[in-house]
Amino acid sequence: MTRSFRASPKRFGGWAGAATALLVVGGWAVATSAEAATGCRVDYAVGSQWAGGFTANVTIANLGDPVTSWRLAWTFPSQQQVTQAWGATVTAAGSQVTAANVSYNGTIATGGSVSFGFNGSWSTANAAPTSFTLNGTVCTGTSTPTTPPTTTPPTTPPTTPPSTSGWNPPANLVTPLNEVWSHVESTYNNGNLYGFRNYGWDQVMANGGSLNYCVRWDSAAPVSTALRDQIHTSINRQVNKWMAYMSGHNGWPYASVPVKVVGWAVRDRATLQWTDNSVDVYVNNIRENAPQCSEPCGRFFHQDGNYSGCPGGAARHYDMSLWLTSGFGGGAGGDWGQRIGSEYMTSNVNADNIHILLHELGHSFGLDDFYDWTPTGVGGFIMKAGSATTITEFDAWMLRDWWRHLKSRYGY
Ligand SMILES: [Zn+2]
Repeated sequence: MTRSFRASPKRFGGWAGAATALLVVGGWAVATSAEAATGCRVDYAVGSQWAGGFTANVTIANLGDPVTSWRLAWTFPSQQQVTQAWGATVTAAGSQVTAANVSYNGTIATGGSVSFGFNGSWSTANAAPTSFTLNGTVCTGTSTPTTPPTTTPPTTPPTTPPSTSGWNPPANLVTPLNEVWSHVESTYNNGNLYGFRNYGWDQVMANGGSLNYCVRWDSAAPVSTALRDQIHTSINRQVNKWMAYMSGHNGWPYASVPVKVVGWAVRDRATLQWTDNSVDVYVNNIRENAPQCSEPCGRFFHQDGNYSGCPGGAARHYDMSLWLTSGFGGGAGGDWGQRIGSEYMTSNVNADNIHILLHELGHSFGLDDFYDWTPTGVGGFIMKAGSATTITEFDAWMLRDWWRHLKSRYGY
């Protein structure tokens, strides 16, 4: 709910909740082509996969006549579903999926190619589709002209299609994204957004592509080994719900951002029911009236990366804390981590989208709240609290806009 950087997180009002998930897929529909595609090859690659989800990149090579719009259709063999796409507008009927071009990538010259990507969900298996059709013609990987060419080959080289890896938001999102960026630039850090260097981005880059976490267990409820492990898995899954949108985008160097939980903080050691030493346990180290992992291990306190005072050494430093408070109904997020209710976390630990946590994670990567205004032309999205329960395309492009503006500080 509340974004705070460099400040003690405070409790704010409750989560509105009960929102309808809004599924947004890229771009808008365009008229389908009447041209015959007479040859095509499709490269379908799963770039990353995790429990219940995956990211895929699809490249269509046109081996036939030029097309000015395209529809690529396939059938998922294992009931997978597309949850969000970029570079294409995706519709589905059962397991039959159709991806259509967006405004900027409808044209594919002979010998040219276009790419698009999507996030998907899977349950029992994630087998790749075995057949694709381009504008109704099966892609066999070879050209099979149905009519002899009657035109001379173009003398100018084909236009290179815009890469989907750069900054290329759908046209309808350009204005709202610009509004958001100008708003955060003028309001963050007293107008000096770029002077702050502990965004989630800074943390991931400092670690070479991962995040370490401390869990602040601000509750008397016991934690079994199984619950501990579920919470660890859950943090990783939620962080990568966001980070999946960066994979392959605009020079972002990581396919995923693994999360390692290195410590737990608790009032009473007996609350934690495991005996192994896979995480460091900090007992009764009370800050902000809650257990906290050792400050010498915390990125918030040591942004110079000097963790020499950390009992477990730099490997056991933590970048963020997941602060789980009994009876807490709202949320807070910032560079220090995220705070949500311990009961909420426990009862949603296996959920695919833990929407309050996703919202607070958005704050940790710089995204703002939208209590008093809404960008032009966008509907529900997870950073507008209570209006969506999953990350939408607009959320994803706001995230990517942060990378666009910060990446030069990391040499990209
Ligand atoms: Zn918020």
